[in-house]
Amino acid sequence: MGLFSSKPAEKKGDMVYAWTTDAAIEKKAECGGAVTSLLKYALENKIVDAVVAIKRGQDIYDAVPVLIKDPKDLVNTAGSLHCGTLNTAKMVAKYLDGAKTMKIGMTVKGCDLMALQELAKRKKIDMDRLLLIGVNCGGTVAPVMARKMITEKYGVDPDKVHKEEIDKGQFIIEYEGGHKGISIDELEEEGFGRRSNCRRCLYKVPRQADLACGNWGVIGDKAGKATFVEVCSDKGADLLSRAVKAGALKTEAPNPKGIEIRGKVEGAMLKLGEKWRKKDFDALGKDLWGSIQKETSRCIKCYSCIENCPVCFPVEESLKAKQYMVKPGEVPPNPMFHMRRFAHISDSCVNCGQCEELCAMDIPLAKFSHAIRAEGDATFQPKLGKSAYSN
Ligand code: FAD
Ligand code: SF4
Ligand code: SF4
Repeated sequence: MGLFSSKPAEKKGDMVYAWTTDAAIEKKAECGGAVTSLLKYALENKIVDAVVAIKRGQDIYDAVPVLIKDPKDLVNTAGSLHCGTLNTAKMVAKYLDGAKTMKIGMTVKGCDLMALQELAKRKKIDMDRLLLIGVNCGGTVAPVMARKMITEKYGVDPDKVHKEEIDKGQFIIEYEGGHKGISIDELEEEGFGRRSNCRRCLYKVPRQADLACGNWGVIGDKAGKATFVEVCSDKGADLLSRAVKAGALKTEAPNPKGIEIRGKVEGAMLKLGEKWRKKDFDALGKDLWGSIQKETSRCIKCYSCIENCPVCFPVEESLKAKQYMVKPGEVPPNPMFHMRRFAHISDSCVNCGQCEELCAMDIPLAKFSHAIRAEGDATFQPKLGKSAYSN
């Protein structure tokens, strides 16, 4: 038992330090293992039929989405993969029938959550059948960038790295023979670091999930050993209370100083996001359409940006015929290919970065659609009101 009360959280708005009682999860978990234990409890007790989470593939740069039905397999998904740039929302819509035929527990970052909400608006997802365990997110580093950065800036062979973590503003690697951390600010000053959409992201604590879990604010004897859990819905409160009652997790009230620190760190991250927005958008603002034209002129029309955008669902028939947007056969495509795509998705762009990440030609697509969305929001917010989340 810790310094503070051990009363479990039971209602929306509560915050707790939580940690697993499962030794195998404790060993693999990022901090307290609360996320994995909660999902395991939900699966064991048939609160959900399956879980969508992420597990490590070949190496630390390879994050693989998995559908889990056997609770004992969940331990394989414990731990955070900061080079895991994927977004799982479209996967649920495309391959899991939008959760209409099964109840799904999911780990979600802010951008997974926003994408799910956009898909729900398009009736592609049934949000009532999802149990969402949110993870705070300071950002992800694209695998190719991570390898380049580790080689050039850390002077380490990326294949020798067996663990990475982000702690106290540093990207830290562990490799055969040592470990090294460099501040993310320094990395980003030199053109390394997080994906550009992550730098601009303003959704750090996913409070529209059922629970929001992270490490910010865990201090004292529980630092690194507990997960900071914020209860964001009645569903989340119920899950946490039941899991604690069943002995899957232990909790204690957070250190008030920890809550204060967590608030400050979140505030600092939001300021940093605003700074990056200003930098990126100001540079583009001088000639947004000219930049779009110049950059997209190397497009090979592979359709990856369309197929991987979580908010884009082209009409099935045209998708099969690869005829959507403009007539086929032209490379680079007619500029209307991109104009129509931006017109079609930019009002609901969640800045997840999938288009840019997966573009065969490294076109900064997310920056363009995010800039258009931000401009639209700034113009129409006085009339329509601020959206429920800031993206
Ligand atoms: P565990 O029990 O270890 O479970 C971790 C869960 O995360 C698993 O379900 C796993 O599937 C999932 N996961 C792993 N990688 C990814 C990924 N790339 N995308 C989606 N899900 C994934 N917390 C903070 O307080 N501040 C931060 O800045 C911060 N940045 C983060 C950045 C990333 C990319 C991720 C994935 C997490 C981040 N977190 C951050 C959350 C933190 O690392 C822990 O996930 C959280 O504290 C829960 O810890 P745990 O021990 O309970 O999780
Ligand atoms: Fe995390 Fe935001 Fe980047 Fe998504 S866009 S991975 S929530 S920082
Ligand atoms: Fe063109 Fe890139 Fe989209 Fe492929 S992913 S169609 S190359 S913009």
